[in-house]
Amino acid sequence: MRDTASTPMPFIDLQAQRARISDLIDDGIAKVLDHGAFVMGPEIEQLETALAERLPIAHCLCCSSGTDALMISLMAADIGPGDAVFVPSFTFTSTAEVPALLGAHPVFVDIDPDTFNMDPESLLLAISAAKKSGLRPQAVIAVDLFGQPANYGKILPIADAESLWVLSDSAQSFGAMYEGSAVGTLGRVTTTSFYPSKPLGCYGDGGAVFTDDADLYSRMVQVRVHGNTGDKGKVSRIGLTARLDSIQAAILLAKLTLFDEECALRNDVADRYSAGLKDAVITPKVIDGASSVWAHYTVRSPLRDNIIKTLGAEGIPTALFYPNPIHVQVPYRKFLLNNCSLSVTEEIASQVVSLPMHPYLDEDTQDRIIAAVRAAVRA
Ligand SMILES: *Cc1c(COP(=O)(O)O)cnc(C)c1O
Repeated sequence: MRDTASTPMPFIDLQAQRARISDLIDDGIAKVLDHGAFVMGPEIEQLETALAERLPIAHCLCCSSGTDALMISLMAADIGPGDAVFVPSFTFTSTAEVPALLGAHPVFVDIDPDTFNMDPESLLLAISAAKKSGLRPQAVIAVDLFGQPANYGKILPIADAESLWVLSDSAQSFGAMYEGSAVGTLGRVTTTSFYPSKPLGCYGDGGAVFTDDADLYSRMVQVRVHGNTGDKGKVSRIGLTARLDSIQAAILLAKLTLFDEECALRNDVADRYSAGLKDAVITPKVIDGASSVWAHYTVRSPLRDNIIKTLGAEGIPTALFYPNPIHVQVPYRKFLLNNCSLSVTEEIASQVVSLPMHPYLDEDTQDRIIAAVRAAVRA
């Protein structure tokens, strides 16, 4: 056991998880070192099959990161210059970065103040603003922020009516459900990330794409490895080096054995936080019919700076996701379209703070965190 009195409290505790399955992880890594297929070894297909079966979905393609998962998807769909790709601004940079890298125009959409996910009304306004600007609306990247699915019940019909395809950026929500369907099956394509701090993380960079679309999948397989067709060195399109390492796949296969239990434990932590904090700050709301995997437990308060200071003084880490929405960042300002208000995004960005969240947060520690937040907003 570690000495909890002298060890700084981690924001996300990966060592508690490792202690439970270190034999499984060590064996998995040792097998890769023995067989020597470090790239595209047998663990890749094992992991792709295991992930596809659990959703279920026809195709899973593992790759080098959540960002590359977005890149592979948009490249396979031939997104490029002149195309409008609708994205929230209140998200991790990659969501807007990848369309911008391909020469497309990320069009920012405001968020719902309760869930922090894309606001369907704002999506409609953004689509008409994009058309007025002469862009071709092509795709919506709906981000499932902090672990819960976006409002697909409203976003999918809007996208269908406009012939847009929906890509779910589910980097934070793998394992969550929406109206009886697993995240991974909700959009035409879903991407996720296995970055170490994500709910299902490896020990480095990794990601995956999920789809039922066989044509798109076969193009994604080619994009992942330089556009190679597998036929006498023929190249079909411009591609990437975007494979997942066999060692990371072995680690993920080990971690998958705990994943469902860990999602339940995260929900217990979230429930306890909400019970202890609901009259002190605005606690997170999960939309009807959905579950969250609580990538982050994020509260809203006009006194958030006080919360950060008070918790910091007690050795309790906090994190800001995201203090600067993408549309205010210098390289992205040029993508702003007239008449697209992002006022909810700006207000939420100035008021939210994320608390320590992981499956192994014990009740005493949680009570300490709850007490500190309550003290901070009383002060
Ligand atoms: C983490 C994250 C990504 C990028 O994943 P990487 O594996 O770090 O490239 C993309 N989108 C969202 C919403 C994320 O949280």
